Amino acid sequence: MVELRTPAQIEEMRAAGAFVREVLDTVSAAADVGVDLLELDALAHRMIRDRGATSCYIDYHPSFGAMPFGKVLCTSVNDAVLHGLPRSYRLQDGDLLTLDFACAVDGWVADAATSLIVGTPRAEDEALIATTRRALDAAIDRARPGNRIGDISAAIGDVAREAGLRVNLQFGGHGVGRTMHEDPHVPNDGRRGRGLRLQPGLVLAIEPWFLHTTDELVMDPDGWTLRSADGSRGAHSEHTVAITEDGPLVLTA
Ligand code: MG
Repeated sequence: MVELRTPAQIEEMRAAGAFVREVLDTVSAAADVGVDLLELDALAHRMIRDRGATSCYIDYHPSFGAMPFGKVLCTSVNDAVLHGLPRSYRLQDGDLLTLDFACAVDGWVADAATSLIVGTPRAEDEALIATTRRALDAAIDRARPGNRIGDISAAIGDVAREAGLRVNLQFGGHGVGRTMHEDPHVPNDGRRGRGLRLQPGLVLAIEPWFLHTTDELVMDPDGWTLRSADGSRGAHSEHTVAITEDGPLVLTA
């Protein structure tokens, strides 16, 4: 069921959005050569405690998960792109790191992700990250009353195709509200003018993620971390966006 939020509720959601941004910015700044992924998770965990927020990940146990996630941050490195379970790994020069973070503040959830390069960048990784950001911007621009979910999806797919990338449709965006994953599903490709009509009060996590040379994923033995099937690197950009009468309001900006 798709739930619409009142303007007052969207105002309340700003606190969660701002905190998710603060955590991602703080963890991004700490992600340096030699830093362990478990230290980044611990940093996010301390911030959650200090803020009195609630992690959406730590007890998360969907049907595809072997066990509860147990951490508060997703850390996906290089060929890992989604749901990276933090493990003891020290970041190396040139690593492509994706951070995905969601939590609740005062009962409202926000969800965002960002990719960054640790140390010396490779041009192809910078281009991949830039493509996911361009797709996110194009998708947010379509998040307006009167458009449809398919308009958001097509905007993402078009950017991917222009960049010569294939799109995986298994994992995409979703509604956000009292919980992390709500209706509707927001695929990362689709047809313009199709799907649910967008109305003021709809709040969506929009999250293009792409891999260099494949659209297929394989799962690590940890039961969570999803990697590209061919070892190519991945990037991911996500914002929580409220659709308002005045257009898209990015809550995690
Ligand atoms: Mg997310």
